[in-house]
Amino acid sequence: MQNKLADLKARLAEVDDLENTASLLEWDQLTMMPPGGAAGRADQVATLQKLAHEKFTADEVGHLLADLGAEYQGAPAEDNEAALVRVATRLFRRKTQIPPALVAEMFQATSTGQSIWPRARAASDFSAFLPQLEKIFDVKRRVAACFPEAASPYDALLDEYEPGANTVQVRAMFDELKRELPPLVQAIAARSDDGRDAILHGDYDEAAQWALTRRAVEQIGYDFNQGRLDPTVHPFETSFGLHDVRITNRVRRDHLTACLMGSLHEAGHALYDLGYPDQYARTPLGHSASLGIHESQSRLWENLVGRSRGYWHYFFPQMQAAFAPQLAAQTADSFYRAVNTVRPTYVRVEADEVTYNLHTVLRFELEVDLLEGRLEPRHAPAAWNAKVKEYLGLTVPEDRLGVLQDTHWASGLIGYFPTYTIGNLASVQFFNKAVADVPSIPADIAHGQFDTLLGWLRQNVHRHARKYLPGDLIQIATGQPLSAKPYLAYLHKKYSELYSL
Ligand code: ZN
Repeated sequence: MQNKLADLKARLAEVDDLENTASLLEWDQLTMMPPGGAAGRADQVATLQKLAHEKFTADEVGHLLADLGAEYQGAPAEDNEAALVRVATRLFRRKTQIPPALVAEMFQATSTGQSIWPRARAASDFSAFLPQLEKIFDVKRRVAACFPEAASPYDALLDEYEPGANTVQVRAMFDELKRELPPLVQAIAARSDDGRDAILHGDYDEAAQWALTRRAVEQIGYDFNQGRLDPTVHPFETSFGLHDVRITNRVRRDHLTACLMGSLHEAGHALYDLGYPDQYARTPLGHSASLGIHESQSRLWENLVGRSRGYWHYFFPQMQAAFAPQLAAQTADSFYRAVNTVRPTYVRVEADEVTYNLHTVLRFELEVDLLEGRLEPRHAPAAWNAKVKEYLGLTVPEDRLGVLQDTHWASGLIGYFPTYTIGNLASVQFFNKAVADVPSIPADIAHGQFDTLLGWLRQNVHRHARKYLPGDLIQIATGQPLSAKPYLAYLHKKYSELYSL
């Protein structure tokens, strides 16, 4: 059995190397590559991904997994070798259950989608995107049908991003958010909009913002010996193994905290990827448990830390020193209020903590209806706009700010949106448990000491990497299942105080 395990590990290590190399080329494309490199680069990445796919889905790997799966039947969940076989088997099934012709069709539909969508969005022309949207949902419906063991088509797609999650559970949590959040949004809107965030919008030197951002991510524990921060158009985090985890962002001269808060978010992702045990290197275990868990780490550092009062008591003097004339009249407290301004927006990525999840609820509801045939793609803009009106009280003026705003559907990422909200909910559960276990954490943050919090996350979340299903990991780390209640309690408490409700 040890020979088979060694054989499997050697094969999977090569898959990991190929995938990491493809990721490195993609990082280069989005940060360093001259525009002329685009055509050749697409071929290079496609070749590496094809090789990785072929290696992983080879018959020999299937035989090894079948034999080893039988050997490890009944092994305890925490056994590393059993976990490796379990996770690799899940990925192998995911990769082999879709016929190659359908994979190719999906690739075709989504790459066309990604080339049409930016133009349709720029022109706010939904009709230009509609035929491709129809095609993508049609392909995705057939992909979902490749997983007959799933309880619903949406479950089959969701499982790729959030293994073990299901539509019924997601809908129950989203219904709770949908009941409780709109009244909170309305109560806040009823207070006069005092323009508390006006100070964030001005003219702030780019180099000074960049230097401050670098310092902020380093302070929370992001290690520049194992990482980089580089400029890009759309911020992201990526890793090429356990000790090279990079983040990117852009500076907006007209927005003082966009780069800073976005970078705390990406650094939160990076701290997670830097926290996997070395013994999981070059194996499928040396990755995140799911996109939702990944997002819980980024949101925890962005919101629970970066938008906390304690953080601004620590960090504001540094920010004030960097922008002395503009911020002379501000205080840590006025800044804390500024970065927690609540105001409904059309665009999800600009949303605050209170309204954010209403954006994901509406996408989830539309996606399920589109996938299961209750909503035709041509009616998607009207359905979208009605929900924005209902949940956020806004009238969408054009599809550019509505149904065309996200790249997800054009990219075939259907079943992906719930992971953002799962991340938000889990971030509060992890943080609450960390503070329950280590009560000094809030005071430590106010003193610029982030290692107690990071240490708790390393020990209780990061260390497990992909070993457990995300739902099980939340249960193991916090003693509770995933729930909307702690998140709602956190919002009510924080924003009742901020808005004197
Ligand atoms: Zn994120």
